[in-house]
Amino acid sequence: MTNKIKTDVDAIVIGSGFAGLALIHYLRDAGLSVKVFDKASDIGGTWTWNRYPGAMTDSEGYYYCLAFSKELLQKWTWSQRYPAWEETHRYMHFIADECDMWPHIQLNTAVTNAEYREDSGTWLITTADGEQCTCKYFVSGMGMISEPVIPKIKGMDTFNGPLFHSARWPEGLDYAGKRVAIIGAGATTVQMMPVLAETAGSVTVFHRTPNFILPAMQKPMTPEWEKDIKDNYDDIIEKCRNHVFGMAFDSPVGRNAVDTPEEERQRIFEENWTGSFRWVFETFDDLLADPAANDMASEFIINKMKERIEDPEIAKILAPVVGEYPLFAKRPPLDHGYLEAYSRDNVNLVDIRNREPIVEITETGIRTTENDFEFDIIILATGFRAYTGALEAVTITGVNGQTLADKWETTSKSIMGVCVSGFPNMFTVTGPQAPFANLPTSIEQNAIWIANCIKKMEGDGHSLCTPKQEAEDEWSAHVSEVHVQTLMNQGDKVNSWMMGANIENHEPRVLIYFGGADVYYQKLRESSDAGFPEVSFASIAG
Ligand code: NAP
Repeated sequence: MTNKIKTDVDAIVIGSGFAGLALIHYLRDAGLSVKVFDKASDIGGTWTWNRYPGAMTDSEGYYYCLAFSKELLQKWTWSQRYPAWEETHRYMHFIADECDMWPHIQLNTAVTNAEYREDSGTWLITTADGEQCTCKYFVSGMGMISEPVIPKIKGMDTFNGPLFHSARWPEGLDYAGKRVAIIGAGATTVQMMPVLAETAGSVTVFHRTPNFILPAMQKPMTPEWEKDIKDNYDDIIEKCRNHVFGMAFDSPVGRNAVDTPEEERQRIFEENWTGSFRWVFETFDDLLADPAANDMASEFIINKMKERIEDPEIAKILAPVVGEYPLFAKRPPLDHGYLEAYSRDNVNLVDIRNREPIVEITETGIRTTENDFEFDIIILATGFRAYTGALEAVTITGVNGQTLADKWETTSKSIMGVCVSGFPNMFTVTGPQAPFANLPTSIEQNAIWIANCIKKMEGDGHSLCTPKQEAEDEWSAHVSEVHVQTLMNQGDKVNSWMMGANIENHEPRVLIYFGGADVYYQKLRESSDAGFPEVSFASIAG
């Protein structure tokens, strides 16, 4: 390597989830020495932290995977359409084993500080144990939905039983026969509740905003389906890279809901009701763009939801009303029996938005304005501080002593989600203002850009990569311009994490590029082909 300044390692990565594993592969391939720190006791990121019963992927497994090795794509077989967390976790071990990644990974190591040292253009990384390590390149693979939001509810520390966030499920927790409360009703609760209800004494969901809930329609992998996938893996991966949400979907379909006669539209909606987010993309092209088309889709989903909810009073709480907010302004959950589970005698729903808000948590349970509920276990399924949360939880200090948290106090700008001005030689995988898409697809495209950027810089004899302020301003302006044209721009109405609107005392902001993941991946490739004009390269004498 051309940078003559001595560091302990070329690149330090935080996080050993999909991003960490992809970075090991691509950075090692670029000739760098790589060290990955993870505070968890195992690799897996999301799939190590989110071990709640029922946790599984919402992307279909066969394209929720890393694509850098054709051989490994052929070697691994998923057991079902959406793998449960245990299976995804096993897959990640398989990748780490097959690619000899373990020597790069140091677990049980929480990074607390990362400090850019202007004199040498290097980074000093400090862990919770006081270990210090220097590197030329500091890379975040911490994930964009990983920092839990813990609500501030009066009396939370007084509860006698276990009370925890869904992403911190206590190992071995015995909930059989217990009275379980879940605060929150997003994608996590939709997966978790029906599984808990099978064993718990009772499950009570404290519910605020209704969601558009789509059916998952799980199914086992068959030998024929597996053969078809493996015979066509190149096309599947290509499809992901060319799809607006990074998914292997057959879209655009070349027709709009608003131009399709009512009967024909209903037929297309009905025929495509086969599970997954496919329905949104493989029916019509205008559902997320045109308010009238979005309302048509919303109405169809709401009717489908109501068909599956036995009690009309419960349906009133769970189902949105057309026009309340657009489909996808809040990320829709995928359902594996959640709506039907409300027919069980041991499942209860409490409307804390319109009927009885939570007043406090007591020693024995939850007090609302109307009732005193007793519980043995309280689960906070209250979501995440998306995109910026994990990065802000570490004290990351760039030039002139500015921290990332300070920089992002009112807006969270970046250059394509991969780097941030004021933070030289630092890179982020799926940072703010990247798209929201099938994550392994985005992660891999980011890792490729980062590795190529470093390779180009070092190949040209430089050691310092400085993200340009004007490139950041330009990207952020573009992201905002696109955002206001989309229906997702209404996410702040309904506390959507996609706009950081779920965080108390925090200005909602534009966190996601909605110009299409396919367009974004193309922009990353163009940047790479053009020699990375968004950053400037320089040398620091060693
Ligand atoms: P979420 O969608 O943000 O839902 C959080 C829930 O908690 C909402 O119902 C929210 O109500 C409620 N809530 C928040 N603060 C509250 C408070 N102080 N009092 C009462 N209720 C409160 O979080 P999530 O379900 O964990 O899902 C987050 C994202 O993670 C998903 O959208 C998805 O992208 C990802 N995820 C993915 C998978 C997968 O792909 N397999 C599975 C789970 C999650 P309001 O809506 O009214 O704010």
